[in-house]
Amino acid sequence: MSFNGSKPHILILGGGSVGMGVAERVRKELGSQVSISVVDPRPYLTYQPFLPEVGAGAIDPRNVLAPHRSVLRGCKLITGSVTEIKHAERTVVVSTEEGEELDVSYDYLVVGLGAVPRTLPIPGLAENAIGFKWVEEAVAVRDRILGNLAEAATTKDPEIRRRLLTFTFVGGGFAGGEAIAEAEDMVRGVLRYYPDLHASDVRFVLIEAMGRILPEVGENLGKYALKQLRERGIEVKLETFLNSCEDGIVKTSDGDEFASDLIVWTAGIKPNPVLAQSDLPLNQTGRLDCLPDLRVKGENGPLENIFAAGDCTTVPDLAAGEGKFCPPNAQHAVRQARQLADNLVRDIQGRPLVDYFHKNLGTMATLGRYKGVGQLMIGGRVIDVKGFPIWLMARAYHVYAMPTLRRKISVIAGWLTQGVSARELVGIKEGENPRAAFEAASAPPKKKD
Ligand SMILES: Cc1cc2nc3c(=O)[nH]c(=O)nc-3n(C[C@H](O)[C@H](O)[C@H](O)COP(=O)(O)OP(=O)(O)OC[C@H]3O[C@@H](n4cnc5c(N)ncnc54)[C@H](O)[C@@H]3O)c2cc1C
Repeated sequence: MSFNGSKPHILILGGGSVGMGVAERVRKELGSQVSISVVDPRPYLTYQPFLPEVGAGAIDPRNVLAPHRSVLRGCKLITGSVTEIKHAERTVVVSTEEGEELDVSYDYLVVGLGAVPRTLPIPGLAENAIGFKWVEEAVAVRDRILGNLAEAATTKDPEIRRRLLTFTFVGGGFAGGEAIAEAEDMVRGVLRYYPDLHASDVRFVLIEAMGRILPEVGENLGKYALKQLRERGIEVKLETFLNSCEDGIVKTSDGDEFASDLIVWTAGIKPNPVLAQSDLPLNQTGRLDCLPDLRVKGENGPLENIFAAGDCTTVPDLAAGEGKFCPPNAQHAVRQARQLADNLVRDIQGRPLVDYFHKNLGTMATLGRYKGVGQLMIGGRVIDVKGFPIWLMARAYHVYAMPTLRRKISVIAGWLTQGVSARELVGIKEGENPRAAFEAASAPPKKKD
């Protein structure tokens, strides 16, 4: 196992579902026989399936984060962003927050850099919209919605009120469908504290380019979810594009135009663009092609000493059949991480590698408290489930999958508290500019004319 007389150094890029899973398992299997480093600009893993509930105030934001420092004990943590991968030189360039550049060398590389939002050059999008992939974004969405309710209840100007109470989500896949449904549920739950506002004052708009929503749960449940959302007053615009949103004025391809104080972009993901800054071969989608054993595929077979998994890769889905690939989701990322770790250990020990094989367990989406849709795979059959049972199952599954016992307990405790008390009412809009109050206090007093 010796590499030039020293321990093999395993460098893991990204501390998300893949990176954290691999680091934990290799550390457990090989202990101090190897040295492991994990690079990530964030000091925590974000459990993304819980973000819609964070955006709806149903889960405390910290409870969807697993801190690297406590989970990855025994690993070296490098806080910074990978800016270049030079596999031929077995070196990765990392840029720190302070602008330093570090060259980090390795014997084995694991790439788990995930994905970023797939945006389009739509006028006003970059300036006015927000993504929904990180906890900071989900918190900002929650605070903006709750903060706007308080402002709208006070303003006398009907146009300002309309703008404050119009919330637009673009993209009706998993992230967008769940996020808007949970947010609408939150608003309906807190409106009774706002006697000056009526449910009809609030406008939720979901813009979807295709002719359906939630394709992940199949056609029938997608139609059911669409009906549910529309019955709840959410305006779902199918086969519609966002044309522009300059200054918060949303213009859509169906000719509609309205002012919206919150525009959330959830229209798909693309692989982490930093992969393009590497000497690794990428496929047409910009991902790393992997072999079923999770080694990165080169022109003439596997590249040496490099593994990858998760949203930044294309991995054959052997359980689904010839020519099928794993969809980018946590269900696969977490299990690929386990297989990857085992194969990395096998490779170091000179043992044969094992292919990744996972039979889809199904898909579930929550659409607010006690509501949801999902497809379960039972005995090789696909079973459609909706309503309370699937909502409960989804919650139970995600608590099981959420890393760390402490977080699992905190999430459940939060839900129980909300079950017996009022919903979250406070939106800390000042979070967008926390220094504003201090700057105002420090400003010289204005003289009276
Ligand atoms: C709102 C939302 C809801 C979802 N719901 C579900 C669901 O219900 N079920 C499901 O199965 N899946 C769901 N997913 C998808 C799932 O979360 C992802 O597929 C999964 O997290 C992918 O794991 P990963 O390790 O590839 O990427 P991530 O978990 O995203 O990890 C990537 C890591 O790389 C780090 N990183 C990024 N750039 C750099 C860089 N330059 N240098 C170093 N580190 C970097 C990031 O900080 C991050 O820690 C959801 C996703 C979202 C956004």
